[in-house]
Amino acid sequence: MEKPMTTIAVVEGDGIGHEVIPVARNVLEAMHPEFEFFPVDVGYGMWERTGCPCADKEIEELKTADAILFGAVTTSPMKDYQSVVLRIRKALDLYANLRPVKAEGFDIMIVRENTEGLYSGIEESGPDRATTLRVVTRKGTERIVRSAIRLAEVRRGRLTIGHKANVLKSDVLFRDICLHEARTAGVIFNDKFIDALALDLLQHPEAYDVVVTTNIFGDILSDVASYLVGGLGLVPSANIGDRYALFEPVHGSAPDIAGRNIANPIAAIRSAAMLLDYLGDKDGAGMVEAAVGMTISRGIRTRDLGGSAGTREFGDAVIKALGRNR
Ligand code: NAD
Repeated sequence: MEKPMTTIAVVEGDGIGHEVIPVARNVLEAMHPEFEFFPVDVGYGMWERTGCPCADKEIEELKTADAILFGAVTTSPMKDYQSVVLRIRKALDLYANLRPVKAEGFDIMIVRENTEGLYSGIEESGPDRATTLRVVTRKGTERIVRSAIRLAEVRRGRLTIGHKANVLKSDVLFRDICLHEARTAGVIFNDKFIDALALDLLQHPEAYDVVVTTNIFGDILSDVASYLVGGLGLVPSANIGDRYALFEPVHGSAPDIAGRNIANPIAAIRSAAMLLDYLGDKDGAGMVEAAVGMTISRGIRTRDLGGSAGTREFGDAVIKALGRNR
């Protein structure tokens, strides 16, 4: 029987998503000309055109793909605007957000719970008071810490649990479940208050392997940790559930630099490498990572890294480094 076609949904989104995602897609196409790509339009631009940033139709389209390559979407200042990213993560139950931060001398994997916590979406806002419910469940915590432990087991076997259990009752539950699972699994583990952890991670990045934490803490911690590798333009991420997977740079739509061909496409290209790894092409993922490293070491860099290469030029150089013709 003929092997079924691998399908990749491509969501450029808004802002620099329109620039970095075509570059990442080109890299995937260079590696796997047999992949079938199809576009899905969501985001602020879509909302401006249709009044809806992401409808059920787009969610269903995303569900048909073997993997999703996602750029970034701009959040509208409108009060009732529903976050597209949160909607997709929930609809596809992409509960594990993996954010690797690595360079010479350290290799950290931040594992962020992606469906609950302070991003539960349960909110009320009035003129004088606004509330957001921070939800931590046993089910949500068990599945994220088990994902983190599985990763630690195939990496350096160390797990750090980041929380704020000294202040937040919800984090007492999170911490205790994580500690119990870590003890049962037999990985080397410790736990730290998230504020102290953020500083220590910057001071001693080599001391960390896998870090598991709740939704907003993981979001902030990964942006902070991007300082270690040269900024937001370099950090990729995977959003993994039991059935679906979406790969996106950690950065947003960066409207301040959009449309100028100066955005760094490395985070998007590395997200494409994580996509290949997820689909079972570990060698391909390694080749893409190596091609990015080779391009940087040849002095080809975008402006955020002190160079003058444009987004497209950097992408072309990576394809050249891959030594393949598209
Ligand atoms: P941002 O990540 O878009 O930008 C922060 C800073 O980093 C900006 O100065 C930007 O120019 C720079 N930057 C980001 N990516 C870069 C790249 N690839 N190369 C070079 N420089 C880069 O964050 P923000 O400004 O806080 O948010 C902008 C918009 O993006 C907002 O509407 C926000 O809601 C949205 N956002 C979306 C996502 C997502 O879609 N997953 C994530 C974060 C923010």
